[in-house]
Amino acid sequence: MKSVNPATGEVIQTYEAYSEKGVEKIINSVDKRWHQWRNTSYFQRSQLIQNLASLLKSNKEKLARLMALEMGKVLREGVGEIEKCAWVCDYYAANAESFLESETIPTDFSKSYVSYQPLGTILAVMPWNFPFWQVFRFAAPTIMAGNTAVLKHASNVPGCALAIEDLFREAGFPENVFRTLLIGSDKVEAVIRHQAVKAVSLTGSTPAGKSVASVAGAGLKKCVLELGGSDPYIILEDADLIAAAKTCTAGRLLNAGQSCIGAKRFIVVDKVYSEFLEYFTNEMIKATFGDPCEPESTMGPLARADLRNDLHEQVSGSVKKGAEIVIGGEKPVRKGAYYPPTILENVQPGMPAYDEELFGPVASVIRVRDEKEAVSVANDSIFGLGAAVFTRDIKKGEMLAETKLQAGCCFVNDFVKSDPRLPFGGINESGFGRELSSHGIREFVNAKTVVIK
Ligand code: NDP
Repeated sequence: MKSVNPATGEVIQTYEAYSEKGVEKIINSVDKRWHQWRNTSYFQRSQLIQNLASLLKSNKEKLARLMALEMGKVLREGVGEIEKCAWVCDYYAANAESFLESETIPTDFSKSYVSYQPLGTILAVMPWNFPFWQVFRFAAPTIMAGNTAVLKHASNVPGCALAIEDLFREAGFPENVFRTLLIGSDKVEAVIRHQAVKAVSLTGSTPAGKSVASVAGAGLKKCVLELGGSDPYIILEDADLIAAAKTCTAGRLLNAGQSCIGAKRFIVVDKVYSEFLEYFTNEMIKATFGDPCEPESTMGPLARADLRNDLHEQVSGSVKKGAEIVIGGEKPVRKGAYYPPTILENVQPGMPAYDEELFGPVASVIRVRDEKEAVSVANDSIFGLGAAVFTRDIKKGEMLAETKLQAGCCFVNDFVKSDPRLPFGGINESGFGRELSSHGIREFVNAKTVVIK
């Protein structure tokens, strides 16, 4: 396995992928550890997970640099990501016990209740776009619930994968509560089939999710899938257009546009279309893309050259079918997997920019007659992860968010973001199950009914 710096194309380090025997040995050790870990108290677990939070905080610059080198995230965003990982650790250290408290249910028996028991060893298949956050938002609740975990991280971030394992060790966790498996995606099926692996959580593309779900389904193992998205952002005529343009730009360009909940389709009502597009363009062109380790860069390269090339094909394919480039749309003539902030207008059904997920700094702008058409275009997608609506009429915004938009997370006047306190997940081809909050920690537990006559 190779770590390649996407800003230069240079190989940073190579790693030997684990052998089948090596993987088997690790899974068996993690399973063995589970039989002890499940009996630890919430207090013991929370002490360790708080140690982990402290370690994350004290190493945030170093870890941000590792992400910058392996997948191109700018340092400022990398530091923010590590701080958020510390937050999710502290959050579950403080709340796991109350979230999983037994629930008494009055019946004719002398005692009846639901007790939340850990399941065992859980597999996480994780992507490269938030190499720490995606793992910690899975690991903090899963481990606080008394499970153990194995991680198959994306093949382009082995350094991050090993750094996470090291952090668990350094925080004082017993060996084998959390282990990384350096394996390719073709080895995942065997891990899911392993009798000690009880469930799987995947964050990544929809095809990867379908593949993992079918193997998990065949083995009757639970899975949580957090997949792609093409989040619609509706701009209504009474929106604060200047604020909306700033927020939409932030939502589109975070992590160089490589986020499942990135703002992707901008659906603007006719009356304010031109004005919004002007403000939005002015904001988008402010982004300065460059070396992710330079403090003045607001955007780094994309994580891999092939991802950049695929994105450019989606843009070119859309232009061939009639989309118009407002800004960007050309591969920069320089070393590295860079792509400029791009706006496409006149985006129509049948174009990649309308139908597919664009995983990079490309905004699809769609003009609609009115609010009704805006909702219909917003819902005209195979995905259903996040959505947002911009309006000064808060009541109307809330009504659209709650009852009209088909997505797992709907925001009014802000871009969609994950927060340890709020459930996170999608519907349709964006997957199923929820992460974070009290909902997330209940995904990988046995809600056991206990009855005493
Ligand atoms: P993938 O979805 O292919 O990779 C995510 C993770 O899943 C990686 O660990 C990968 O391993 C693993 N994986 C891939 N295919 C399988 C499989 N059949 N069985 C088991 N595990 C699998 O993302 P890519 O890196 O290929 O990116 C392609 C596109 O996916 C992006 O352009 C974007 O549209 C979407 N994506 C969405 C993300 C999100 O947050 N929703 C995150 C990342 C990508 P390995 O790296 O070894 O292939």
